[in-house]
Amino acid sequence: MTEPGTLHVVATPIGNLDDLSPRAREVLGTVDRIACEDTRHTGRLLQRFGVRASLISVHEHNEEQRIGPLLELLREGGSVALVSDAGTPLLSDPGFPLVRAALRDGIRVSPIPGPCAAVAALSVAGLPPEPFRFLGFPSRRKRARREKLQALANVPDTLVWYESVHRLAATLADLAAAFGGDRPAFVGRELTKRHEQTRAGTLAELADWAGSDPDARRGEAVIVVGGSDGGPQGGGGLDLDRLLRALAKRLPPGEAAAVAAEATGEKRNQLYRRILQLAE
Ligand code: SAM
Repeated sequence: MTEPGTLHVVATPIGNLDDLSPRAREVLGTVDRIACEDTRHTGRLLQRFGVRASLISVHEHNEEQRIGPLLELLREGGSVALVSDAGTPLLSDPGFPLVRAALRDGIRVSPIPGPCAAVAALSVAGLPPEPFRFLGFPSRRKRARREKLQALANVPDTLVWYESVHRLAATLADLAAAFGGDRPAFVGRELTKRHEQTRAGTLAELADWAGSDPDARRGEAVIVVGGSDGGPQGGGGLDLDRLLRALAKRLPPGEAAAVAAEATGEKRNQLYRRILQLAE
């Protein structure tokens, strides 16, 4: 199964350990070296499966330094498995520089496919699975995030993001403001785990839920948003945030929300919350 001189890119579970495939287990048990994000984390996974292996950490802060020694081992005919803490390496995880360098060096790179939170969410979201666009994590900086989301408002593809549950409510509210509260969407939380939760609704509904249900702040989450149908986005093609800021400068929040609701057809209470968020 393990081939000499091959870099195996191995997917590991995103929660449920039974999702580790027999092939992944065999490769992890037979390669000369496992390159992993966190040796303790992967060590625990291997222990659970009774696998003994030689581990080396490869994370965003040391990946460049690790590439040389790993390529040397591969050139000498050694075999290496690349894993991340969970799911498929490279997808919002380390590994791309190593894979690229290996390919440039003529080294064989072979996938052992398996769990990936983005694909798992897409497979149950009830939104068109193709074309889809995977966007990784939204920017943590509010302004950059809002600008990037605004730029995606007219994209017809289904859009998929990873998001920390601590920012889930804020990001869903930003999405509702950029794309319009009526846009169909989905949140997959704790997928494959004991407290798995899948929730479909409009962006306004999901933003409301994430802002009020304490469970929505626990675990890990994927956001999936249906593509633009070509109609007006986020308040009739207006920059909704800009309109709200302008109104809120001149009117108390409640009145500003009422005027904006009348002008755009968006829900008043949602616009009210948005005004308060923008004022933060
Ligand atoms: N490479 C991984 C993959 O293939 O899914 C993703 C790694 S990324 C650092 C971690 C993010 O993936 C989390 O913040 C969350 O957005 C998402 N994620 C991972 N596991 C998840 C799960 N069980 N349920 C929902 N989202 C999950």
